Amino acid sequence: MTTSNGVSARYEGAVLIDGTGDEPVTDAVLLVDDQGLIDYAGAADSAPPRDATPVVDLSGHTLLPGFFDCHVHFGLGGNMMSSLRDMAAPPSLRSFETAHRMRETLRAGITTARDLGGIDAGYRQAQRRGLLEGPRLRVAGRMLGPTGGHSDFTLPDGSCPDPGLGSVVDTPEQARRESRTLLRDGVDWLKVCATGGMTTPSDDPEDVGLDEETIRTVVGEAANRRRDGVAAHSQGIVGIHNALRAGVTSLEHGYGLDPQGNELMLRSGTVLVPTLSAALRMPERGTVPEYLWQKKHRWAEHSRSNIAGAVAAGVPVALGTDSGIGPHASNLDELRHLVEVGLSPLEALTAGTGGSARLLGLRDRVGTLRPGMLADFVVTDVDPLRNIAGLADPDAVVLVAQAGEIRKNTLSNKAASAS
Ligand SMILES: [Zn+2]
Repeated sequence: MTTSNGVSARYEGAVLIDGTGDEPVTDAVLLVDDQGLIDYAGAADSAPPRDATPVVDLSGHTLLPGFFDCHVHFGLGGNMMSSLRDMAAPPSLRSFETAHRMRETLRAGITTARDLGGIDAGYRQAQRRGLLEGPRLRVAGRMLGPTGGHSDFTLPDGSCPDPGLGSVVDTPEQARRESRTLLRDGVDWLKVCATGGMTTPSDDPEDVGLDEETIRTVVGEAANRRRDGVAAHSQGIVGIHNALRAGVTSLEHGYGLDPQGNELMLRSGTVLVPTLSAALRMPERGTVPEYLWQKKHRWAEHSRSNIAGAVAAGVPVALGTDSGIGPHASNLDELRHLVEVGLSPLEALTAGTGGSARLLGLRDRVGTLRPGMLADFVVTDVDPLRNIAGLADPDAVVLVAQAGEIRKNTLSNKAASAS
């Protein structure tokens, strides 16, 4: 039976890219049942015959799985300076702003996201209960790092303008206790800082963060509680090697990756989330602190060639942007960068859908358009195989659905009306 929210529908005429890496299907049919599950996705020739199910004509469009962003910070406003300013706002206002960013990100085509620092598990629960419109969420809460490292926002005067991002731990025992505290509070992922970073003033990407033993302790705690895994903020090469030997699930950034690191990744099955949107975006000089401009300038080219090396070596890649540090709701600009470092457009689209679902442990439910999967999908009026950069514009995403329910629909009225 039909419901007004769009569940139970037949979508016809689009080019289908199903997220598995298979070649596109022209003139496809997608059938969604009243539970929000996919009944059929494939060529019109083999589709079940039309019945009373309402038909949506998608001729001239491309139909894809809903995209993933495996590295976001919904609690942060788009640059470090505004984030610090935001902290003067009441917590309730910050929550509404976070909710707004989630909604805008969903409308840009991201139906699932992993937040790697700055929000708690309540956002995941609110989204799941339908109280909050946004991507399905996996959260890490706060990231763990050493005193003076990437998660330590303490200033020389002892004040600590931390927007809920960091926990400071220096020993395996401290890391164990903080991991358990976060897991008790309901996080899905733990995040460690294996190196310093760009945006913090007192450390550098080449600095080593938590040591291998401490990271291994965190990996063990996540496994003991059967959570999704451990993400490692890793930029310089010494910390990258530490994180990989300790058994992390995903390597975030990976800007310094070398052939030995690539080898370790291939052996362990660790997934790279290269956040090229963050690495390659050069702020205008004078608009950010000089230390940040200098760091970014030094690292941009270095990052591009090392990530290209990892891609060439066959390291698995998932889509992540670090939005929150950068702007929200232009997440799919990352696809263009993935192509720049050597993926084909189809491989980039697969990395952003089925490949990311695999990293997040959700591949049996979302990420590909196959029978039995939840009907999370997007429709675009650009041809992403010819114009991958076109997907960066949120307006190019004309329809977004989660479990068959329509979250955005800017198809023309004529095309959207049932025939
Ligand atoms: Zn981040």
